[in-house]
Amino acid sequence: MSAITIKISNHCVSFPNMFLLKQIQYHKVFCKLCHHRYCTTYVNKLFSSNNSNQFSRDAASNRHDFINNISYSTLKYCSNLAFVPRHEPCSNRHIEDLQEFVDNSKKLFVLTGAGISTESGIPDYRSEGVGLYATSTKRPVQIKEFISNASVRQSYWARNYVGWSRFSSFKPNITHITLAQWEQHGKVSHIVTQNVDTLHQKAGSINVTELHGSLHDVRCMQCQYSISRTQFHHTLSSLNPRMAAQSQDIRPDGDVELVQDDVSRFVVPCCPSCGGFLKPHVVFFGDNVPRARVEAVKEQLRQSDALLALGSSLQVYSAYRFILYAAELKLPMAAVNIGLTRADAHLSLRVPARCGHVLPLITLR
Ligand SMILES: [Zn+2]
Repeated sequence: MSAITIKISNHCVSFPNMFLLKQIQYHKVFCKLCHHRYCTTYVNKLFSSNNSNQFSRDAASNRHDFINNISYSTLKYCSNLAFVPRHEPCSNRHIEDLQEFVDNSKKLFVLTGAGISTESGIPDYRSEGVGLYATSTKRPVQIKEFISNASVRQSYWARNYVGWSRFSSFKPNITHITLAQWEQHGKVSHIVTQNVDTLHQKAGSINVTELHGSLHDVRCMQCQYSISRTQFHHTLSSLNPRMAAQSQDIRPDGDVELVQDDVSRFVVPCCPSCGGFLKPHVVFFGDNVPRARVEAVKEQLRQSDALLALGSSLQVYSAYRFILYAAELKLPMAAVNIGLTRADAHLSLRVPARCGHVLPLITLR
């Protein structure tokens, strides 16, 4: 049979902004999120309205083959592609190999990086052409500068304040949602993320370790004081009523760029308990992941039977060390990442694709 491209508009009625219907067989069409089953009449209406020209050319008797021949490339999911690097379409062979990898695991350990949040509109650091390092000469603040220099802290908090409204409003995308579903179905045993955006938890995942912490939490560097970033925002707002700067710029760590005038007038409070410095509860560049957190993740790895890395080049050692540990444990490993990864030599499979394209195509069984 010749290849046929069908323009399918597969919205679930419960999620009108997302393309979620999946066809297994002619009579089996369901939503990948809510598992609502759709009747063939509904599917026929979709196909008739979206493929009227093709249907007029093709005999009705061909419809069964017609539907079963839907190319993966015609399935589309709700996503923001502005920060997704250029890439080739994913092959069906890669999808099948990933399906087999997932099928063979009963306790999947998932390691995620900035590449899975790009489809939510948050850029990553290293993606070719669209990542922070490719588009800006600005670099994330280093922990030594933050500790030693009051003007660095003032500048950091002013920028973080302006970027917070936008950063805190980002929503999980189809990759986060799919992983939460996999956890509910018992497929995923644990998620370790390098991201500080809390989108896994927003999607409903529970067993999550935020390797580099979360921007949603603020801690004192000298005592045990902590405050939620949302609550701290009210404090910053009350201390800086004239701060009117805005920015559409955003970085993976919620940072933005500001002019010096906005920065120099910005008031940063000290810790109300001890007068120390307040800092987002994230691991800044140049700092180390707490040892107890690393050991807890290794324990999760020992209880898993495979590792799947998603949206990460694994260049940073803090995450790459878990690849090395999984190799010691002889766990099978796969990755979905558009570009090469540092772990390629350890992988049994690398799918060079966008996570939001690939993951929803995998069926749990
Ligand atoms: Zn304190």
